[in-house]
Amino acid sequence: MSVSPEKRPLVAVAALGGTISMVPGDGEDHAVPRLTAADLLGDLGENLEMDVRAETLAGISSASMDFATLIRTRDWAARAVDEGAEGVVVIQGTDTLEETAYFFELTWASEAPIVVTGAMRNPSLPSADGAGNILAALTVAADPRGRGRGSLVAFNDDVHAGRWVRKTHSSHVEAFSSAPAGPLALVSEGLVHYFHPAAARPAALPLENADFSGLVPIVESGVEDTGELLETLVKAGVKGVVLAANGAGHVSAGSADVIERALAEVPIVVAGRTGAGPTFRGTYGFRGSESDLIAMGATMAGWLDPRKSRLLLHTLLATGASRERVEAEFRLRGDLA
Ligand code: ASP
Repeated sequence: MSVSPEKRPLVAVAALGGTISMVPGDGEDHAVPRLTAADLLGDLGENLEMDVRAETLAGISSASMDFATLIRTRDWAARAVDEGAEGVVVIQGTDTLEETAYFFELTWASEAPIVVTGAMRNPSLPSADGAGNILAALTVAADPRGRGRGSLVAFNDDVHAGRWVRKTHSSHVEAFSSAPAGPLALVSEGLVHYFHPAAARPAALPLENADFSGLVPIVESGVEDTGELLETLVKAGVKGVVLAANGAGHVSAGSADVIERALAEVPIVVAGRTGAGPTFRGTYGFRGSESDLIAMGATMAGWLDPRKSRLLLHTLLATGASRERVEAEFRLRGDLA
C-alpha cells in the first residue's frame, strides 16, 4: 500500500474468536478459541505502512454471536474511529460472519470502513488462511478508497460488500460469495483493486434505546407445510417472523390462512429460501402466492435472503419501527424501490 510518508494510517483491530483463534491444547484433539488479538497479529503489522491497535473483545465460536456482542463491537469500533482510526478490522468465526457484516452494514454510520474477516483453517492446520486474511483486511481498512463503503468482508483476497456477502461453503477457503453482485475488489501485492467507485448507501439505522429482547425467528416453507409451526410461534409471542418461503416468495395454502390471521399480531417478512434472486410482486395469484401475501399485508424482502431479512427485521423492531417503516426499509434495503 502506498501512503504519504508523513501520515501512517491507524487501524483498530478487534478479535472476537472463531476458527482463526482456535487451536487444540497440549494433548488435545479439538480446537477451541485460545488466541488473543495480539497473538493473531503477531508481527503482521510491522512491515506495513500503518499503525495497528488491537484488542480482544471476546473469545467465542461465532455460533454464539449475539446482539449484545455485535453492539459492543460496533460501539468499540465507533470509539476507535473517533480516536483517530482510519479503518477497523473485526476478526471472528466464519459461521455467522455474514450476519455480523450485515448488522454493521445496517448500523455503521461512519465513513471509515469496517472490515470483517476470519479463517476456514485453524492455525494448527497446514495452509492456515488466517494470517493472509488479516493482512488483506488490514490493507483494506487502511486504504482511503474504502471510505464510504460501509461494512466490508475481506476473505481469500476478495473484498465483499456486507450488503451481499454470504457463506456458501462449510470447508473451502473460498467460503464467501457475493453472487450475483460479485466482489467489490481484489487484494493483490498489497494493493486493493476496487472495480467501481463507492455507491450511495441507505442511512445507518439508529440504535439509541434499542431493545433486542424477544424472538424474530425464520420459518422455512417446504413440503407438508401446514402453517402449524408459524401458528405456534405467533401464539408464543414472537415479535415478528421471517418466512424462508419457496421460490420467489410462495407458501402453501394452509400457511397462507395462518399468515392472514398472524398478520393481525406481528409483521411478517417473506424472503426467498433459495438465497438468490428477488422475491416477486405480481406474477402469481394462487393462494399463498406473492401477490396473495402482499394483499394480506406481508412485506416482501426483495433481494435480501432470510438471514439478512431477520437481522433487518429484528433491528427495526428493536427500535420500535411501525409496520409502514418495516415495509419502507425492506423496499429500500431489499432493492425493491
Ligand atoms: N467454523 C467456524 C469458523 O470458521 C467456527 C466459528 O464460526 O466460530 O470460524
